[in-house]
Amino acid sequence: MKAAVVKDFTSPLVVEEVELPAPGPGQALVKVLYSGVCHTDLHAAHGDWPVKPVVPFIPGHEGVGEVVAVGDGVKRLGVGDTVGNAWFWSACGACEFCVTGRETLCPDQRNGGYSVDGSFGQYMLVDAAYAPVLPAGVDLRAAAPILCAGVTVYKGLKESEVAPGQWVLVSGVGGLGHIAVQYARAMGMRVVAVDVSDDKCALARRHGAELAVNALTDPDPEGTVKEFTGGGVHGGLVTAVNGKAFSQAVGSLRRGGTLSLVGLPPEQFPLDIFSTVLLGLTVRGSIVGTRADLAEAVDFFARGLIEPTYTLRPLTDVNAVFDEMAAGRIEGRVVMDMSA
Ligand SMILES: [Zn+2]
Ligand SMILES: [Zn+2]
Repeated sequence: MKAAVVKDFTSPLVVEEVELPAPGPGQALVKVLYSGVCHTDLHAAHGDWPVKPVVPFIPGHEGVGEVVAVGDGVKRLGVGDTVGNAWFWSACGACEFCVTGRETLCPDQRNGGYSVDGSFGQYMLVDAAYAPVLPAGVDLRAAAPILCAGVTVYKGLKESEVAPGQWVLVSGVGGLGHIAVQYARAMGMRVVAVDVSDDKCALARRHGAELAVNALTDPDPEGTVKEFTGGGVHGGLVTAVNGKAFSQAVGSLRRGGTLSLVGLPPEQFPLDIFSTVLLGLTVRGSIVGTRADLAEAVDFFARGLIEPTYTLRPLTDVNAVFDEMAAGRIEGRVVMDMSA
């Protein structure tokens, strides 16, 4: 099969013929039709994170396709089923996190396109107990970004503890943020968006944000948010990859508000102890979602409530796509078409 392979962390990916993997016990072999490209794939290919993948490997954790073979003992999936892979590829199923509904914190989890070969190829393996199943009839190109971007923002919004009818801040209206605005609306939240581009602010308004603030041109973005919402947002989600956005989001919270962090810039941000204590603020991280979160995120999408913006590209464009991503030139998401 053809796949995009990371040979080392300093060279471009090599699109080449590799051996077709065979499904082991509990696994399924999937013919990949489409795969989204996530910022994490870029970090994986560059070996940016403390725990590095072992080269050579195939990135990609927003793959969708059709099951063509199953290994021993597989009951949940059958040939012909439409499934995906995900960052949360599998977990131990037995640790304190797995048995308390927090399986994405499992220390023995495996990650698609990182510790297990991913979806940047014509075939991939999935764990039959963990692979997300996609309902019949959904647009698989648009479904691909739901498997990481979609579930990440959906879970992050749940973690913000904003109730229907309350205000939520979506900071950053890029690949994750434009999907977050749509999930927030579908979950009954009232949305305030912040970005540093007028185009992204307009995109947020098109998706239903009642206010979109350009933090570059507004001299007091926090004040604007607080005035519009009558005291600040009840919760927020930071998808931005700019440290300043994190401080601004904390400053936009209402008393008792909760901020979920999902964006991963390399820097730190100062958290003011006095206001955090006196205003009873909560700041927490949120990482992808459990199998149940992912099924819920897919359900919102399947009901036509979420429309990711994406561009289709062939697998052979993978290095160009990475360059564009690193330069911040990608609108919405790139989805690679494995048949192209
Ligand atoms: Zn991802
Ligand atoms: Zn576990």
